[in-house]
Amino acid sequence: MILKTPEKCPVCNDVLRYEFGGKNLFLLQKLCDKKLDHKIIFIPSELTADEVKIIKIPLTTSVSVEWHLYNEIFFVWNDTSRIATKLPFFKPDLNDYKKLINKVKTYILFS
Ligand SMILES: [Zn+2]
Repeated sequence: MILKTPEKCPVCNDVLRYEFGGKNLFLLQKLCDKKLDHKIIFIPSELTADEVKIIKIPLTTSVSVEWHLYNEIFFVWNDTSRIATKLPFFKPDLNDYKKLINKVKTYILFS
């Protein structure tokens, strides 16, 4: 699926800011992390920055979920155990963040 890199956060409508992140700080990310109740990170494609390659949502300090849109992969990443659990891909509905998080949590629970 193709998703345009959003200008504004789909959760709180704040302007998303660009930041270099990732383990080696080379990864360009567009993120909203000002809000305590949500964190959402868009990683644009290296080829065309207006397209999102990865959507990442940290659920806790060690667990996050990632949608790899270009090859339609969805997985849960545990930073402590360094284990990625691949789950069936679904299109993230960014219009309803709470519903999305609940869906993700249910997915994790039953996986
Ligand atoms: Zn936000």
